[in-house]
Amino acid sequence: MPSTEPTAPSNFIRTIIREDIAANKNDGRVHTRFPPEPNGYLHIGHAKAFCVNFGMAAEYGGLCNLRFDDTNPVKEDVEYVDSIMEDIRWLGFNWDDRLFYASDYFDQLYEYAVQLVKLGKAYVCDLSADEIREYRGTLTEPGKNSPYRDRSVEENLDLFERMKAGEFPDGTRVLRSKIDMAAGNLNMRDPVIYRNIHASHHRTGDKWRLYPMYDFTHCLSDSIESITHSLCSLEFEDHRPLYDWYLDQLGVFHPQQIEFARLNLSYTILSKRKLIQLVDGGHVSGWDDPRMPTICGLRRRGFTPAAIRNFLERIGVAKRDSIVAVADLEFSVREDLNKHAPRVMGVLNPLKVVIDNYPEDQTDELDAVNNPEDESAGMRKVPFSRVLYIEREDFREDPPKKFYRLAPGREVRLRYAYFITCTDVIKDENGEVIELRCTYDPASRGGSSPDGRKVKATLHWVSAAHALDVEVRLYEHLFTKENPMEVDEGQDFTANLNSDSLELLTSAKVEPSLADATPGMTYQFERRGYFCVDAKDSRPDHLVFNRTVTLRDTWAKIAKVL
Ligand code: ATP
Ligand code: MG
Repeated sequence: MPSTEPTAPSNFIRTIIREDIAANKNDGRVHTRFPPEPNGYLHIGHAKAFCVNFGMAAEYGGLCNLRFDDTNPVKEDVEYVDSIMEDIRWLGFNWDDRLFYASDYFDQLYEYAVQLVKLGKAYVCDLSADEIREYRGTLTEPGKNSPYRDRSVEENLDLFERMKAGEFPDGTRVLRSKIDMAAGNLNMRDPVIYRNIHASHHRTGDKWRLYPMYDFTHCLSDSIESITHSLCSLEFEDHRPLYDWYLDQLGVFHPQQIEFARLNLSYTILSKRKLIQLVDGGHVSGWDDPRMPTICGLRRRGFTPAAIRNFLERIGVAKRDSIVAVADLEFSVREDLNKHAPRVMGVLNPLKVVIDNYPEDQTDELDAVNNPEDESAGMRKVPFSRVLYIEREDFREDPPKKFYRLAPGREVRLRYAYFITCTDVIKDENGEVIELRCTYDPASRGGSSPDGRKVKATLHWVSAAHALDVEVRLYEHLFTKENPMEVDEGQDFTANLNSDSLELLTSAKVEPSLADATPGMTYQFERRGYFCVDAKDSRPDHLVFNRTVTLRDTWAKIAKVL
């Protein structure tokens, strides 16, 4: 089991940064950035990336910029820009006045490209996208030079200028870097720098008819912002030679790109492209569906910023890819909620119980502990009356050997209330149990044994007359396979969707203290798990709860308190 205190174990990034500071590299500055593309909502993998970037900067007295990598006008949207900022703030990070957009640099980037052309390091190529792919060669075969590779600088400058003016249709010409078509690294085989896209951009409008590619934009944006350590995920390792090449050719400030392993979680998909498919295909209710691994989904589910940060700190950063168990994330959530979530009683699948020897018009106000982990949370009153609800699964007419909860003739404790004994079982015409008749022992008020006699179970309950009717949504993993990408031939990852990932309970009952529950608040329903008031669908007169996580060891906890 992980320790309860988040620790800051050393990792290879910390080592590099410490060495750089010791050597006074960049005058000892540490300046990182998080560069999301605004083409989807952030997921917990992105959270790892921004926790590393913002976290390292904070740790070494440095700065971290937020920079939107908005170079593709077709896929990007302001909706995403806003959500990304909200999500980063929610996790507790702040970029102060250092909010940038790669599109702010379009003029400068264009000038850099012109400079490359003048240096004879870039050319305009008329091959189609398919032809470029064909000419590129493969991992085992070198590529071929484009027939346009040896255009004169003058001709290239003229054509590039005309690309800028929007003279050519999309897909007919590109600006390419002139590196080496036989390079072992395919990224170095004359990669594209600019292509025409006749589309308006969410920030620059119709000013540009051509847009720069990611590799070119990214290293130069880092350079323009004087980033010292450009921390990114492992898939960019093969792009590092290109990152370095552009900066070296142009002779500009040269940040160091350092790669770390992406976060992969079991039973989870962390790829915007695939998450979009889940949204568009109607497999989930939206980006913020509580089953989604997006930050907004996790938030709506009831995960806390502290839990997510602790989880990310614990798994650390490594150079190798691995799959982290989603149970580790749930552990962190439980650990945090256990400290902070108020305890309440809620019955998910109610079974009516009538206490025959309890007076009909009487109500008892019983004392209940709000949070045994936090004395300052205080106590509350819970009403008890003649008609109650208990959890249907806490009763068995014919109890198996290890079932210690309620059964005919058996006595159990109702949490904070009384010992009750089941005297009769009432069924409907189909033989289904619809009501239990019980008696209570008035001497056991508060749930303590009057004469030392023992009961083996403590049940949660609510008073029927006082309970609130609520809707509860239970969630399971969205996928049935540990690695959802593992599919049979001809199938895609949606074949691994878990058809039971959402269970709706419409007849749940909770204690009346929850009348004031507001969206986003999280409670522990004793013995049932942690539940968060849904931020979207919950109304004061119709509360909707999302189960955040189940409790691991319900019985042990109850025993400890009593
Ligand atoms: P996706 O693969 O989900 O589409 P992306 O990499 O295309 O994500 P970007 O917006 O480009 O999305 O990502 C911003 C930053 O987040 C990048 O620097 C990338 O390295 C990092 N990142 C994305 N996914 C993960 C992950 N699973 N673990 C760690 N970092 C990630
Ligand atoms: Mg990307």
